[in-house]
Amino acid sequence: MSCCSSPGLMPVEEALQRMLAHAQPITEIEWVPVEQALGRVLAESQVSPVDVPPLDNSAMDGYAVSFDDLQADQAVRLPISLRIPAGVGPSSLQPGTAARIFTGAPVPLNADVIVMQEDTESDGESVLLPRQEKRHQHIRVAGQDIACGQQVLSAHIRLRAQELGVLASIGIAKVPVFRKLRVAVLSTGDELVEPGTEPAPGQIFNSNRYTLAGLINELGLDMVDIGIVQDTAQSTEIALRDAASRADVVISSGGVSVGEEDYVKDTVEKLGQLHLWKLAIKPGKPLAFGEVGGKPFIGLPGNPTSVFVTFHIAARAFLLKMQGMDDLSYPRYRIPAGFTRSRPVPREEYLRVRLSQSEDGAMILKCYDNQSSGVLFSAAWATGYAVLSMNGVVSEGDLIDYIPFTEL
Ligand code: AMP
Ligand code: MG
Repeated sequence: MSCCSSPGLMPVEEALQRMLAHAQPITEIEWVPVEQALGRVLAESQVSPVDVPPLDNSAMDGYAVSFDDLQADQAVRLPISLRIPAGVGPSSLQPGTAARIFTGAPVPLNADVIVMQEDTESDGESVLLPRQEKRHQHIRVAGQDIACGQQVLSAHIRLRAQELGVLASIGIAKVPVFRKLRVAVLSTGDELVEPGTEPAPGQIFNSNRYTLAGLINELGLDMVDIGIVQDTAQSTEIALRDAASRADVVISSGGVSVGEEDYVKDTVEKLGQLHLWKLAIKPGKPLAFGEVGGKPFIGLPGNPTSVFVTFHIAARAFLLKMQGMDDLSYPRYRIPAGFTRSRPVPREEYLRVRLSQSEDGAMILKCYDNQSSGVLFSAAWATGYAVLSMNGVVSEGDLIDYIPFTEL
């Protein structure tokens, strides 16, 4: 426990390391067509079986000639002996002549320069070519993009659009990926009703379920929806057992605080064990982590903003490691604060901020006024987090850590 944290609260980094030590990556692999592999985690590294491009080809519409047939000091006229559109096989150029060539078409044998159409004059039979510039000009060499035998993608990365394109460019139609992690989500709380139904007095809409569904989907994982769970020991036990039997990881929201209506912690201890509880994080202090029915369990707080923050900061890395990813990190950028926080908080704080432009055009972070853990709109307004270290204070203009939501 760090000297400056609140008693009983574990520093965020320590909690993360402890959690990650329990994350067992799944090993089951499935083969999916490349067009369906977006966001999936690659299970085996990929080596190119071909050169890309396969042949030397023209980067321009123009004329393929031998550099030695051009003159160093004046234009020269050569007869056109060949026409080479894209898609045809290799050909050979007669010395002393030019080939009409198009972008992407294979450069003929004996030609070592492409002269772009715009620099020439042609009557269809012959072409006037400018003086020599550079040998090999406007030729895309075979293998210049990807060489045969080159490893193009390593295992344990998440496939983005550009990786799908690279796989297709080397002729790969199906890839091995880890099967999607199944994440069970329970929304605890007697006060909750689903949107689309009429809340009775005292009831509120279940928002955590939707925030979590979105977050889980964004990571490329499958959600197993356990629904709303009433605040009783029996309902909580039934729901946790059900969740553990149907998913790889169990996530709950609410019911992990200190009130008598909070049944989650006790039930987890009954069905499994609790590894840690209470983090030095704001918002999100009552986070719990353990296991139920042999499955990892993450108990997120109930407050909607705490759910959002603790999912990003604690659950995300855990889930991605289980999904088979290597790199769990995200960048932090140093950006000037456009606000002041003079009261130190003995927890690491994740302020919802918006990256904005100040009047002089510089980037600054604006802070949402109401940073209460119940104000979910702060997250919808914001573009990311400003991270304040434990007991940290900020004056306007200070450089502070910024994590864009898009990096999470
Ligand atoms: P709890 O930790 O269960 O005491 O919940 C803390 C606060 O979060 C309470 O105000 C709850 O009403 C609220 N809350 C809990 N779960 C949800 C949910 N699924 N959607 C919206 N608010 C919730
Ligand atoms: Mg509750």
